[in-house]
Amino acid sequence: MSWPHVIGQQRIKEALLSARRSGRLPHALLFYGAEGVGKDATALELARVIRCERGQDEACRVCSSCLRLDSLQHPDVQFVIALPRSPQEREDDEPLAKLSEADVRAVQEELARKAANPYYRIEIAKANVIKINSIRAIRRESSMSTTDNRRRVVIISGADAMNDAAANTLLKTLEEPPGDTMLILTTAHRDALLPTILSRCQSFRFDLLADEEIRGALIERDGADPARAELAARLANGSYTRAQELLDDEVMQQRARALDFIRGALGNRTIDLIEQIEGFAELKDRDAQVRFLNLVMVFLRDAMVLSHGGSVVNVDQIADLRSFVEKFPGADMPRALLDVEKSISLVERYTYIKLVFAQLAVRLRRAILPGAAQQKSPAKS
Ligand SMILES: [Zn+2]
Repeated sequence: MSWPHVIGQQRIKEALLSARRSGRLPHALLFYGAEGVGKDATALELARVIRCERGQDEACRVCSSCLRLDSLQHPDVQFVIALPRSPQEREDDEPLAKLSEADVRAVQEELARKAANPYYRIEIAKANVIKINSIRAIRRESSMSTTDNRRRVVIISGADAMNDAAANTLLKTLEEPPGDTMLILTTAHRDALLPTILSRCQSFRFDLLADEEIRGALIERDGADPARAELAARLANGSYTRAQELLDDEVMQQRARALDFIRGALGNRTIDLIEQIEGFAELKDRDAQVRFLNLVMVFLRDAMVLSHGGSVVNVDQIADLRSFVEKFPGADMPRALLDVEKSISLVERYTYIKLVFAQLAVRLRRAILPGAAQQKSPAKS
């Protein structure tokens, strides 16, 4: 398998390698696709291969070029990202020149994390825009000769974050490519780029990763235990970055709360359920709420799978799952799953979160405890 540092994406790797072998790698490439599927990782690997002193299809990872790229400190490979701005800044200043020491340190720390893990999601406070300064710096650097005769590579990560001035400056660079420079733009929001930029780049669409690819990578690279890797992979919606973030303990706590919620919805202690629902409204954002509902869904799906004798995601919860299946033999699980799905789409659109959760509790009761909801409701007796 080529480029083992990039997870999956075989079709893209083969297309890039075959273009390279025949000397047809374009001057401008656009890697687009969902967050966390390996666009930056592929761009960095391609830069490695182009710059590697051995000149093979695989980067050797030991030559001085490969080593410099390992720390993202290669003189002929620029990695451009959104940066904070300083009020004193002029468009021709070096991108970091006028930033405070603390800001510069934050940028360097985030870049070091990205260097160590190309799937890392860079987050720098107040850095929402790729500045014109960064794009001008590309033009300046590109007019200088490289340290050898190989191509210079510029990666613009999250290219949709360019503001208008930066995008228009980039357009000029694309119209008159300076020297032998290869530009790689990566984005999860292709539609946010100017059509004139899109038309000058050769586009590569990155697919979502398969659960199995994510699971394997979590075990191999992150040392995750198989059960946890399985759970994170299922919840990550094809994004390795998301899966890595899901490995932390918070997810395990949320999983326990998800089970409490299901028990609360099916039990008779209304007060407990109300308290839980109050708690959900405090989950920090929509993403966290959706993640929580996904955990509810995974448990219910496991229960359904187990009742048909299949293999479950939450292998370590097998005792809870068995007792659930035994306790609710008449449950309409497909309906319950559909109810959770509906709640997920409501959370994404709806502002009154507590109501969404309360409604879900009522619906789960109806689906899983046939007859119970009607008996409890005085209005229907
Ligand atoms: Zn090398």
